[in-house]
Amino acid sequence: MNFQKAGEVLTEVWNNMVIEGHNVVVEYLEPDDSAESFVPDLPSPQWYSEHMRESQYLLQVHLVKCDDRACCGDVRSSLRSILSKHFLIPPYTILQSSSSLCIPKPRV
Ligand SMILES: [Zn+2]
Repeated sequence: MNFQKAGEVLTEVWNNMVIEGHNVVVEYLEPDDSAESFVPDLPSPQWYSEHMRESQYLLQVHLVKCDDRACCGDVRSSLRSILSKHFLIPPYTILQSSSSLCIPKPRV
C-alpha cells in the first residue's frame, strides 16, 4: 500500500510538470504478478553499443547525440566541442606510489 501511495503521489506531481515545453503525462499502473509485465523493452545491441558505456563503476548513457539524425535528432548544443568522444572519460584507478599518486597503465 505504501508503494501504491508513493506511485499515486508521484503520478500527481509529475503530471503537473512541463519539461522543455512538453507536458509530462504519467499513469500509475497497478502491478500484477506476471513477470512479463516487468521486463522492459531492451534496446538493440547496435543501439546499446553506440549509446552506452558500461564499466565496473559506471553506466553512462550517451551524453552527446550520435551522428544519425534519424536516431537522436538534430544537435542543439555545442556539447560535442568538449565531449568529442560523446562520453565522459571513465574513472581512473589511482595508486599511491612511494613518491606520488599515479594512474597505472591498463593491462593488455
Ligand atoms: Zn542516437
